[in-house]
Amino acid sequence: MTMDRKKIDIEDKFQRVCAKVDLDAILHNVERMREGLQEGTHMIAVIKTDGYGHGSIPIANCLDPLDFLFGFAVATPEEAYVLRAHGVKKPILVLGYTFPYANERMAAEEIRPTIFNLDGSELRELAEAGKTQGKPVKVHIKVDTGMGRIGVMPDDEGLAFVQKVMEYTTDGWLEIEGMFTHFARADERDQTNVRKQLALFTDFVARVKADLGLDIPLCHCANSAATMELPEANMDAVRAGISLYGLHPSEEVPGEETYLRPALSLSSHIVHVKTIHEGQSVSYGGTFTAVEDMRVATIPVGYGDGYPRSLSGGKGYVLIRGHRAPILGRVCMDQFMVDVSHIPGVTRGEPVTLIGEDGDERITAEMLGELSGRFNYELVCDLGKRVPRVFYRGGELVAFQDIDGYHTILD
Ligand SMILES: *Cc1c(COP(=O)(O)O)cnc(C)c1O
Repeated sequence: MTMDRKKIDIEDKFQRVCAKVDLDAILHNVERMREGLQEGTHMIAVIKTDGYGHGSIPIANCLDPLDFLFGFAVATPEEAYVLRAHGVKKPILVLGYTFPYANERMAAEEIRPTIFNLDGSELRELAEAGKTQGKPVKVHIKVDTGMGRIGVMPDDEGLAFVQKVMEYTTDGWLEIEGMFTHFARADERDQTNVRKQLALFTDFVARVKADLGLDIPLCHCANSAATMELPEANMDAVRAGISLYGLHPSEEVPGEETYLRPALSLSSHIVHVKTIHEGQSVSYGGTFTAVEDMRVATIPVGYGDGYPRSLSGGKGYVLIRGHRAPILGRVCMDQFMVDVSHIPGVTRGEPVTLIGEDGDERITAEMLGELSGRFNYELVCDLGKRVPRVFYRGGELVAFQDIDGYHTILD
């Protein structure tokens, strides 16, 4: 009973704006991705930027027990610490460069750094951190096969680097667990480029084995797009990010319509409804002026929540009572207005869908990305701290994350 009470309070409290995250959808997407994997290929769930804005903690807790999941990938050590603090057991890889201040704690919490610095200056410090903590630091070597971002080149120089890393492993405080590369253009229909990168990487893996006698346990290269489109790139593990959330890597990799299930919806409630008359303007700059009587509803969400300001001036719309209500004038930091003249009986307090389904209508992150001139990845990542996330599993509200942090409900 107290639990029900608590849930009602939460739903009440988050009426202004709320991102509902369906953990079952994420499990469904992971399962669908797994079905396409070759025997023996593991998955690394990419949950950087707080799980692409969805909330990394409940997602990691939900996926942690899955056998075929090798572990998780994040972008910074701090993102990894949060997961450890919430009981995540599996390996966590930091995909980007780690500044040396983090070595000690990474070693203590068994968080894997990505290494690629040719001068090898980090290697000694990492090995020392491992020694201090009494367990080897497991590293992943990054190879640049065409992304041009970070990584050693898959040539003699790269080989010399791997050899240098091997020297540091002999004391047992550093261990080469993985090697990986990242595709720049796996989300394009034309796969020439991704195949070229894959060939460079597999050749380099083979050279490391032939020339240095090193068989690296976990070689990985595929992101979501390559996991879906190029099974040859499976290798020991795939790194699935955007697909976990039911979003598509690009228009050119749509998957089947029903293949992935979007996990996040975004809703609000109308706080004001009024009639305006010919000549009256709406919002900053007076960019919209009524030419006839119209009904206008105010939504208490704005670009301060990560709702794109570029949806201003009728570019975007929301769903009310299963109808589209276009945005009038500019989106403000905390509010915006929509036209509800064509939707009979709209009143204050009614629910509004910003992302998600209402009746036969649906607004996806992809559609919002397109309308706002942005990108679905960016759109969900940018949903602000001020937007509470509530997490559902088996239809039950199990946890939420608001400006005060993460809270579970079941205990
Ligand atoms: C973000 C990222 C991924 C995940 O990419 P998706 O397109 O979201 O699947 C994989 N690998 C690296 C190195 C990344 O930075």
